[in-house]
Amino acid sequence: MKIEAADRVRALPPYLFAAIDRMKSEARQRGMDVIDFGIGDPDVPTPEPIIEALCRAARRPENHRYPAYPGKLECRRACAEFYARRFGVSLDPASEVLTLIGSKEGIAHLPLAMMNPGDLALVPDPAYPVYATTVRFVGGEVLRYRLRSADEFLPDLDAIPEEAARRAKLLYINYPNNPTGGVASLEDLQRIEAFAERHDLIVVSDLAYSEMFFEDPPPPSFLQVPGARARCIEFYSLSKTYNMTGWRVGFAVGEPTLCAALGKIKTNMDSGVFGAVQDAAIAAITGDQGSVEVMRRTYRERRDVLAAALRQLGLAVRPPKATFYFFAALPAGVKSMDFAARLLQEAGIVCTPGVGFGEGGEGFVRFALSVPIERIREAADRLTRFTI
Ligand SMILES: *Cc1c(COP(=O)(O)O)cnc(C)c1O
Repeated sequence: MKIEAADRVRALPPYLFAAIDRMKSEARQRGMDVIDFGIGDPDVPTPEPIIEALCRAARRPENHRYPAYPGKLECRRACAEFYARRFGVSLDPASEVLTLIGSKEGIAHLPLAMMNPGDLALVPDPAYPVYATTVRFVGGEVLRYRLRSADEFLPDLDAIPEEAARRAKLLYINYPNNPTGGVASLEDLQRIEAFAERHDLIVVSDLAYSEMFFEDPPPPSFLQVPGARARCIEFYSLSKTYNMTGWRVGFAVGEPTLCAALGKIKTNMDSGVFGAVQDAAIAAITGDQGSVEVMRRTYRERRDVLAAALRQLGLAVRPPKATFYFFAALPAGVKSMDFAARLLQEAGIVCTPGVGFGEGGEGFVRFALSVPIERIREAADRLTRFTI
């Protein structure tokens, strides 16, 4: 029988959220009013000026043809302008910025561009599952390094075995962090850069949440660290900043050889981002940034309501300084999958079991603030009748 998926497909880890997804639809079928904190996807629409820019751009015939592979130069220039304005980092739009079909696309293709079979990548645990999965797709090896609550979910670099650090090629980092809400300061990033330099590692920095912050100073880019740009590729996305997850547009920026290798893979895999979406991205980045401030205010308010409710329940929570994720520690011995199942069945509240992000996420559940505040209040009310 040849209708059998390739080994890399069969080797995929079980989809740990399948059980929760099933329970969610069963609960809804029973008529339960489900409040879903499981989805890391903004519930607020894209700001109107960006939608208008798309509509105008969709009518321009030049946007109906295949786009330029690395993206329009104006679009890459807009990304460079953002980096200059926000981080004080100057980028050459032609060689240091690449347009992506959402940052996940670039993150997923990077191992194809940079890793040979047997090469090693250092990947945080817990983490966004895409990093480890796509390294394995190309026959790469993965060493997970733990992010611990006691370390504010920053990497404990000394715990990485010397031999592995020396052999590794890529070091993945993601700050502000999904799922933990951890934030790295410039000093933290300097420490990571020193480690990467000592072991000659390429740093893959996922910056999807840089604009979703609630406290000063705003989260830094890894490229702000002196020397970092010689070894880093960073992924920036419009998805979370402008509520544009469905639009599929993001950027890879950084060291030109890394950008060029990723660009070469992409030339052979896809045909770039719809020109009108790129025009809308330019409008988003270069236009009035009032909507970003509104976005922060919205999540800050929600965060504070949910924090009070989870505390009342007796969960140890630290409200995130950035990202829209609460990573709540469960009492010792409580499994994240069991807790999530009970919370759903008894209170109609969906959260994500931490174990779905790696062994290091066991003992935690993630609540995403992609729920309107009235519904968070309703959840808070239900939580008063729930016991762990
Ligand atoms: C949401 C998210 C992204 C962004 O993905 P896009 O493909 O740009 O929509 C990247 N990394 C992490 C960790 C995320 O949570």
